[in-house]
Amino acid sequence: MLEIKNLYAELEDGSKQILKGVSLSVPAGEVHAIMGPNGSGKSTLSYVLSGRDGYEVTDGSASLDGEDLLAMDPEERAAAGLFLAFQYPVEIPGVGNLTFLRTALNAQRKARGEEELSSGDFLKVVREKAKSLNIDAEMLKRPVNVGFSGGEKKRNEILQMAMLEPRMCILDETDSGLDVDAMRLVSEGVNALRSPDRSFLVITHYQRLLDHIKPDVVHIMYNGRIIKTGGPALALEVEKNGYAELLAEVAE
Ligand code: ADP
Ligand code: MG
Ligand code: MG
Repeated sequence: MLEIKNLYAELEDGSKQILKGVSLSVPAGEVHAIMGPNGSGKSTLSYVLSGRDGYEVTDGSASLDGEDLLAMDPEERAAAGLFLAFQYPVEIPGVGNLTFLRTALNAQRKARGEEELSSGDFLKVVREKAKSLNIDAEMLKRPVNVGFSGGEKKRNEILQMAMLEPRMCILDETDSGLDVDAMRLVSEGVNALRSPDRSFLVITHYQRLLDHIKPDVVHIMYNGRIIKTGGPALALEVEKNGYAELLAEVAE
């Protein structure tokens, strides 16, 4: 599904190299977690994969189902089935949440050669999915993320993901700003989407999210590289011992 090889990326102005040879592959149906100290390059990796401006890839490759992601513009990546739930969701004043969801969904259906959903069908689906994330009708009518609390924004990201049903979902610290109940709702939303032909890359600081969204594989990122890969026990180890011990071990 997602194959990243020796990826190097820097800020567009060349002032800082952030990714320094990231290699990672996520097979179809698997959930991989990325943990790592602040500043390791986790968000940058997700931005580079989704095609956000401001970064320049200087070496390596990234493909989705064998297609070169880096050659596509961000819309093409989304149409190919890539979705990024942002660590800091963007506010879009003037654009109603429902309008936004409907436009995104129909653009994607069009790109896939599918018919648009009727407004009745769309409303039915969106209301049902919103309800399961505890997003009320009023929140659906407001401009996208404007005035939403941190937790509401994160739930709204998951609503977008649930509507678009992407093949490769990247969640960047979706758990930050969530209280325990919201984390459960979000995790249930994610788990409901798990399927043999969908994969997840879950970026998190905290092991506790991984109690709810059980990963198949855990990667530790530090200083622009994956320094260790293991099973779910690796996340528990990091939670217990912190990163210092792991970094010392890797340095040896
Ligand atoms: P993480 O998500 O692991 O905390 P980031 O990818 O956000 O790490 O950042 C990696 C490093 O790159 C940090 O030192 C951060 O300050 C720096 N960085 C990322 N984006 C920018 C930017 N647009 N301008 C300046 N520094 C940046
Ligand atoms: Mg950070
Ligand atoms: Mg980050």
